[in-house]
Amino acid sequence: MLTRMKVPGADPRRCPTCGDPLTFEILDDERFLVAWSCVNCGLIRTTEPV
Ligand SMILES: [Zn+2]
Repeated sequence: MLTRMKVPGADPRRCPTCGDPLTFEILDDERFLVAWSCVNCGLIRTTEPV
């Protein structure tokens, strides 16, 4: 059975500032480094496993 991790209240695919859906760009395939950017307000955030 598959279980998906869910973060309550914070959708990582949505802009925390304006709530618009973020577009993502894969920076490093092997490290799973992804840059999320908001086309509305210009916010950019990167995610990488710690
Ligand atoms: Zn935004």
